[in-house]
Amino acid sequence: SPTPLTLLGTGAMGVALARAWLAAGHPVTVWNRTAARAEPLAAEGATVAASAAEAVAANRLVVVCLLDDASVGEALGDADLTGRDLVNLTTGTPAQGRARATWAEARGARFLDAGIMAVPPMIGHAESGAYVFYSGSPGLFEEHGDTLAVPAGTRYVGADPGFAALHDVALLSAMSGMFAGVLHAFALIRQEDIAPKDFAPLLVSWLGAMAPNALKAADQLQSGDYGKDVVSNLAMQVAGNATLLATAEEQGVSPELLTPYMALLERWQAEGHGTEDTTGAVELLDARGGGA
Ligand code: NDP
Repeated sequence: SPTPLTLLGTGAMGVALARAWLAAGHPVTVWNRTAARAEPLAAEGATVAASAAEAVAANRLVVVCLLDDASVGEALGDADLTGRDLVNLTTGTPAQGRARATWAEARGARFLDAGIMAVPPMIGHAESGAYVFYSGSPGLFEEHGDTLAVPAGTRYVGADPGFAALHDVALLSAMSGMFAGVLHAFALIRQEDIAPKDFAPLLVSWLGAMAPNALKAADQLQSGDYGKDVVSNLAMQVAGNATLLATAEEQGVSPELLTPYMALLERWQAEGHGTEDTTGAVELLDARGGGA
């Protein structure tokens, strides 16, 4: 029979998670700091606990989906975690995930940290492609993997409890660069007689066509050969960047979202890497000094 579980946090994401588990027949005990936000779930079959400690006491499997790491510490401050399996779906940094694991284990719990790669409407719909990164206790993941797979797909990325957040944030960081580029592109066409709705599909297919470049970059990083299979070498790209900047100026668009990346590529070229791919510039980003 479906594993009963406790869910702390019924914000936008928590409600979606609770509904997915309830729909699959799992008994769910919920708690939310603002009780009014948890109460509607009672009509859908959830048990609403009066306190976080009471909710934690109700089930061995405890899932937490709160605003940030500080709220997790606050909510669980006086809960007895002995023998609990704690799964933290709250977005945080890798260091927060590791510290939270140490904290939970010292209180007698097994711990998994997680990073949700989805927005609430995707939860509970397998076809949406929603998934969650998990890292930490392999035993916990093995035991509860099927239950965790109910609201979204699961990807276990290692015993290091920081790895789920690291994967999550790495993907989100790449997305930031993409969104920045999209904003700049719209800014370029904005004052012209070009409809954003006509232009957007071109953007989507172009970004899709270029995204697999990451696979080649990975191959170059793993081989340590930034000159492997170069299609558009760095010197050519740096020259092309001048055209991008000149166009921004012609269109009266601030280049502020592009210039940091372009400056990085120029520095790498100045160090003698013009015939290679852009991938090696990753070494300039490594604040610890030096590559792998
Ligand atoms: P909401 O803002 O909708 O909900 C935040 C939740 O955190 C509420 O339950 C809120 O309680 C609770 N909370 C905030 N501070 C405290 C505190 N000090 N003590 C106890 N509870 C607290 O956020 P979401 O549900 O959207 O997000 C929850 C987590 O999911 C976040 O870490 C977010 O990054 C992650 N996530 C969200 C996505 C999204 O698109 N929504 C996508 C991927 C991840 P109260 O109702 O009392 O304010």
